[in-house]
Amino acid sequence: MTIPFGKPMIGDEERAAVAEVLAGTTLTHGPRVKDFEAAFGEFTGAEHVVATASCMAALHLTYMAIGLQPGDEVIVPAQTHVAMAHAVEACGGRPVFCDAEPRTGNVDLDQLEGLVNERTRAISVVHYLGLPVDMDRVVEIARRHDLVVVEDSAIALGARIDGTHVGLKGDVGCFSFYPVKHITTGEGGTVITRRGDLAERISRLRAFGIDRHIVEERRHSGAYDVVDLGLNYRLGEIGAAVGIEQLKRLPGFLDARARNWRALAAGLADLDDVDVIESDDQGERKASHYCLSAVLRGPLASRREEVIDGLKAGGVGSSVYYPKALPDTSYYRERYGYRDGQFPVASSISGESIALPVGPHVSESDVETIVAAFEKAVDQVKAHA
Ligand SMILES: *Cc1c(COP(=O)(O)O)cnc(C)c1O
Repeated sequence: MTIPFGKPMIGDEERAAVAEVLAGTTLTHGPRVKDFEAAFGEFTGAEHVVATASCMAALHLTYMAIGLQPGDEVIVPAQTHVAMAHAVEACGGRPVFCDAEPRTGNVDLDQLEGLVNERTRAISVVHYLGLPVDMDRVVEIARRHDLVVVEDSAIALGARIDGTHVGLKGDVGCFSFYPVKHITTGEGGTVITRRGDLAERISRLRAFGIDRHIVEERRHSGAYDVVDLGLNYRLGEIGAAVGIEQLKRLPGFLDARARNWRALAAGLADLDDVDVIESDDQGERKASHYCLSAVLRGPLASRREEVIDGLKAGGVGSSVYYPKALPDTSYYRERYGYRDGQFPVASSISGESIALPVGPHVSESDVETIVAAFEKAVDQVKAHA
């Protein structure tokens, strides 16, 4: 029996909701996507919510909506999911990478402003492992240079700053409902924003750039004009039906994640040569506890594969967030000529950390199993030095 790194929590409610959609004939352009958007708005406090096919789609639509052009630059964390950089590239823009800070893995705010120049259009940040970035500082820098702020909140659903949900301090927040994230719709994502102008544009670009994006607005089927170069990045009714049920369970999921994260961190606290990346609450920055990442130091640093094998032997699944710093990936190396050592903190986290499960599928006794398996794996690696 293995404790997987992540596991979608699908229950009878989700199955019944899907069956109900399939019993009807409305598979897209229906009421469930609207209900899901409304419920997501209620949970986050967002005025505008536009559900999308994925977080990648949400990010791409965001850059399309702000009119990102070839030659434009966007600051992107070096330590994040490749979707953040690809969304910029897909618009012909250039991601300019910013290294992480070692304690939290969030973007190093002391380096951010130095990357801004006359071509910069936007700053993007990721709330790494669910710990909110200090958005007041990011927004202040952005204001000074008239830049758009994009918050990738794909692993930060439930995280808040002074009570404000992440994604709402900047101009746009993007979320993922991929199966192992906080909630799932199969594939899916969303944009939240305070800005009605951006929501309107993103919503139109989500559906081919058609002027009447709501079916009821069309006098008869097919009566519409095309006013923009849009894509088809919609979420469907089946996914939305699952998402509605998932949102009802989200508060319980978040409680379980916080409990598991803290118990696991306490269990690993005394291990030599293992540093836990700080992703618990920090004052009024409330975290969403996506996973616990342990960075291997000293004699363990170069021996991650062996530790992962040991965990597997002990019945514990793991992952790496994220497996390569973006400037270390082949695509971005070949395109922009990055070299080893330019983003030392991001490279060290991606090269030497192991992400452990804390999701709601993990029980309190599972946490003990994970701690014991980790200790044993580390001991064995050290014994074979
Ligand atoms: C998972 C993830 C994404 C991609 O989400 P999809 O919905 O699979 O497109 C983007 N950004 C971050 C930070 C992620 O963790």
